[in-house]
Amino acid sequence: MDFRDTPEEAAFRSEARAWLEANATARTSDEQRFGEGLDDTARIAAARTWQRRKAEAGLAAISWPREWGGRGGTAMQQVIYAQEEERFLVPRMVFENSIGQCLPTIAMWARPEIRAQHMARGIVGDEIWCQLFSEPAAGSDTGGIRTRAENHGDEWIINGQKVWTSGAHFCDYGILITRTDPTLPKHKGLTMFFLDMKSPGVEVRPIKQASGHSGFNEVYFTNVRIPDSQRLGKVNDGWNVSLTTLMNERFSIGARLATGVPEFFDFASGAKMADGSLAIEDKAVRENLATWAARANGLKYTSYRAISALSRGERPGPENSIGKLVAAPMMQDIAMYALELQGQMGAVAREDTSPAGKLYQMLYGAIGMRIAGGTDEVMRNIIAERVLGLPGDIRVDKDAPFNQIPTKGR
Ligand SMILES: Cc1cc2nc3c(=O)[nH]c(=O)nc-3n(C[C@H](O)[C@H](O)[C@H](O)COP(=O)(O)OP(=O)(O)OC[C@H]3O[C@@H](n4cnc5c(N)ncnc54)[C@H](O)[C@@H]3O)c2cc1C
Repeated sequence: MDFRDTPEEAAFRSEARAWLEANATARTSDEQRFGEGLDDTARIAAARTWQRRKAEAGLAAISWPREWGGRGGTAMQQVIYAQEEERFLVPRMVFENSIGQCLPTIAMWARPEIRAQHMARGIVGDEIWCQLFSEPAAGSDTGGIRTRAENHGDEWIINGQKVWTSGAHFCDYGILITRTDPTLPKHKGLTMFFLDMKSPGVEVRPIKQASGHSGFNEVYFTNVRIPDSQRLGKVNDGWNVSLTTLMNERFSIGARLATGVPEFFDFASGAKMADGSLAIEDKAVRENLATWAARANGLKYTSYRAISALSRGERPGPENSIGKLVAAPMMQDIAMYALELQGQMGAVAREDTSPAGKLYQMLYGAIGMRIAGGTDEVMRNIIAERVLGLPGDIRVDKDAPFNQIPTKGR
């Protein structure tokens, strides 16, 4: 493991830092967020403007090849840019699905004449994309989806429902996994498409979350028509295509991990205990902070190991699964502890009336992080099977025709 930048990496870091200093506002605290105080429409418009500026500077998709509209840089340069950007107020989630997983899937699987146009518009933020995979009865197990696509000549008719679709309420396009042949085993009868989210028959219903925000949605499809030219990959080979999306998703989530430790340090430095003393001066608080800081440092060096491997041109190993599995529960514990320290005020979730308000955002965010992109249990399965070489999960329905798998109603 070598933590030092090579001369080329150091030169790129200086370039990225100089560009960010000239074009973005530095954060003054770990709790500040891009677009605070703006409504959804204004925040998305500001995010699009930022994305265009970043793309024009060649920093929107650093490791994408030039033929996709990227910079043709290295994965290491992508990591360096992300490290530098961390200190600035920039939109974090709006383009995560587009750049992180949807557009790489389009690049790999869409027809060339369509691909170029969407890649170009996506990279500058004119098109924002969402991922339409999860359904009420199929989350961890993407192979269990039930949304149907029926072929009618050169178009397909879609009926069904997706859920938890992040950003569908502001997205322009989506990538969609459907079932095209229910007589085949569950992973074999699937086909992927992309679609315009304004197509007739698409209904997006935002889900009101416990935090008060609405980050994700239910999406209903009623006789939605998709031209065959928008199919991604071969008919009934959608599982294979979806792996491009899922692999990119795990990598992009794992690449940027929050632990909650800096936020807790800020909080404890200002919060008062019942006797009026600062929380940061309390022995028990300091002991917990030290434990979490040590764990966060362990994660940092684990991720440096992955970064070192990237720098040598190797592919990252299982570190991404480990990172999410450790960081997300730790963030949840930190938020809960900080809320307990607030005593009665810890019960007040409103950001405008209680210092605990922001901690609730952290608590709910951590719980979401433990689920999105693979739950804790699924991460453990991945580590058990692919890292430790333990026997695989028992999958009794793997080879049965999908329409023969017993359901609750049958
Ligand atoms: C913040 C957030 C954003 C999201 N954004 C999107 C999005 O944009 N697009 C999208 O399609 N989806 C999205 N999702 C959905 C997400 O992919 C699913 O919630 C996730 O895959 C889990 O599926 P599920 O909720 O159906 O739970 P289930 O799969 O039903 O799991 C229920 C419980 O069973 C456990 N479990 C399941 N299978 C196994 C197993 N084999 N072994 C052991 N335990 C198991 C799980 O760990 C969990 O505890 C998002 C979720 C969150 C939280």
